Amino acid sequence: MNKSLRAFNTFGIEAYADQFIEINSVAQLQGVLQEITQPFYILGGGSNILLLNDLKGVVLKMSIPAIKIEQTFKHTVYLSAGAGVNWHQLVLFAVENDLGGLENLSLIPGTVGASPMQNIGAYGVEIKEVFHRLEAVEIATGKIKIFRKKELAFGYRNSVFKNKLKGKYIITKVWFKLSKPPHRLRLSYGAIQSVLADSGIDQPTIRDISNAVIKIRSEKLPDPRDIGNAGSFFKNPVIGPKLFTSLYQQYPKLPHYPQPDGTVKLPAAWLIEQCGWKGKRIGDTGTHIRQALVLVNYGNAKGAEIHALALKIQESVRQKFKISLEMEVNIWD
Ligand code: FAD
Ligand code: NAP
Repeated sequence: MNKSLRAFNTFGIEAYADQFIEINSVAQLQGVLQEITQPFYILGGGSNILLLNDLKGVVLKMSIPAIKIEQTFKHTVYLSAGAGVNWHQLVLFAVENDLGGLENLSLIPGTVGASPMQNIGAYGVEIKEVFHRLEAVEIATGKIKIFRKKELAFGYRNSVFKNKLKGKYIITKVWFKLSKPPHRLRLSYGAIQSVLADSGIDQPTIRDISNAVIKIRSEKLPDPRDIGNAGSFFKNPVIGPKLFTSLYQQYPKLPHYPQPDGTVKLPAAWLIEQCGWKGKRIGDTGTHIRQALVLVNYGNAKGAEIHALALKIQESVRQKFKISLEMEVNIWD
């Protein structure tokens, strides 16, 4: 074991890998896949993984660069980015060039290549709304394949790459379809509107929205550089109407967001808080004081300790609300 992964996962877990290879091009990736005999792990920014142990194998760190404006039409612009591009840098590039669609997704950590994996989303927008296509390398054959939007089966923090095609492809490049002004602004999240109103902005630009999201996120979410974390540890559960009605009778303060198909989304953070976990600390692990959905590493927590805490939280929520929280973070064992 000779490569420390501490600086390569936002939980800041100390774990080692046998080997670490930085991938800078598709051709290099294809060459590595031909030669490799050990198990391997695909790493982006490490902001959605929990390392339970040292890795007996090779880490392939996706660093394929470059943002490019591919085609410009009257109302739309196609933008591409290599898998290794930092997500927030892509958002800033779009905002800088007055290209709309990514602004609500400001300040999400990680890389472009990982963004379609769980259809990243925040503040009322998911990437499926601006996603056009992606390029990936098939692990078994080394062949390049282009995936169109309909093939990705995007869902809430979900895509085909977390299900049927799990572990089969490595994403190398993503294309986005963005808007030219006038933009369709997404202001459905109350917090965005109140930050804009507080700043006296009544006709916001996409830059104003990006700045508002950056402000809200910086105030509410722990910065992994200060306290190790991987954002929301669990997905927000979406439950059927029958269970919702019975829970709502028991808990009239239950926050809820009805979905178009009759299901209801509940904030996992509220459920966890009701079970008494908000701000709880056990050794160097715990839940964040301002956001119970974010599990944290206060310093030297081991991945297994964070995982054990997650299992305890899952069990409490199951006991109290009859809801099984699904882990959003990818567990690397
Ligand atoms: P990694 O953690 O490196 O990898 C995640 C998974 O994707 C792994 O299984 C990995 O093998 C796989 N993978 C990575 N790159 C590739 C590739 N090129 N090809 C194939 N597989 C690949 N998520 C949201 O959706 N919305 C948010 O608002 C949000 N906020 C966050 C806030 C904080 C403070 C943190 C720490 C995380 C947050 N996240 C959020 C979670 C995380 O940032 C996203 O899921 C992000 O897309 C992960 O990118 P990454 O490059 O770090 O992926
Ligand atoms: P929040 O705004 O307190 O909201 C908590 C929950 O309520 C989430 O389930 C959210 O759904 C839902 N919600 C709130 N307002 C809504 C609205 N107007 N319409 C529909 N649903 C609404 O959550 P937060 O923790 O501060 O995070 C803010 C945003 O950033 C959220 O979109 C969240 O998903 C995202 N985020 C994600 C991560 C991650 O790691 N995945 C980490 C931090 C923040 P949605 O989740 O569908 O938005």
